[in-house]
Amino acid sequence: MIVLFGGTFDPVHRGHIQAALSVCNAFSTREIRLVLSARPPHRKKPVASQVHRWEMLKLACECDSRLVADDHEVHRTGPSWAIDNLRYVAKQNPGVAISWVIGNDSLAGLPDWKESQDLMSLCNLIVLGRNKNGGIYTKDLQDFLDQHKTLTPFDNVSGSIFFLQDDMLAVSATGVRRALAAGNPIEDCLDPRVHKYIVDNQLYGINH
Ligand code: ATP
Repeated sequence: MIVLFGGTFDPVHRGHIQAALSVCNAFSTREIRLVLSARPPHRKKPVASQVHRWEMLKLACECDSRLVADDHEVHRTGPSWAIDNLRYVAKQNPGVAISWVIGNDSLAGLPDWKESQDLMSLCNLIVLGRNKNGGIYTKDLQDFLDQHKTLTPFDNVSGSIFFLQDDMLAVSATGVRRALAAGNPIEDCLDPRVHKYIVDNQLYGINH
């Protein structure tokens, strides 16, 4: 199974890393690809440049050999839609199961993704229980989730949604950026290499 975990990673933090490793453990996968959403189409422009976000992602992935920084969107042009990435990966790996990892907060925005109705024919979804109370979903989305939900890790190539029950860290990139700008300690939430990179490059309004 190929596992893709997309994110803006502005910056990548321990919440992302712990989540990625939880997925590897739950599915006994040898690797998970962290796909930098180089030009995220569905949210505000990232604060750090694509180059900085990519460098930080590579550094964070050095902490465990199962983490692979995926540069596909870095080299492409145009918006970083998940469906385009999935089509590319599926074409390169015919017949191989692909899973897309997403937090239950981001899942609420799924209907706004490009060609979201085609997503489930290309992959399975692994949903991270980031918000303890679950996501706030429209009835249509909830129906869609109920229809595709599976209670066991997948045996089919696509079309299923698995809700991972592991606890997630209460860390967000927004919180990290705010703490950095305010000069508050945030080292615990970042890989030390990423923290050093931020300091060295004076990112996020850090002033040391
Ligand atoms: P921001 O605060 O800027 O919105 P973020 O912390 O949510 O950023 P993203 O790069 O936007 O980080 O997230 C990429 C994916 O990782 C999303 O699916 C998101 O739900 C998930 N994610 C982010 N933080 C965590 C966390 N602490 N635990 C589990 N999943 C997370």
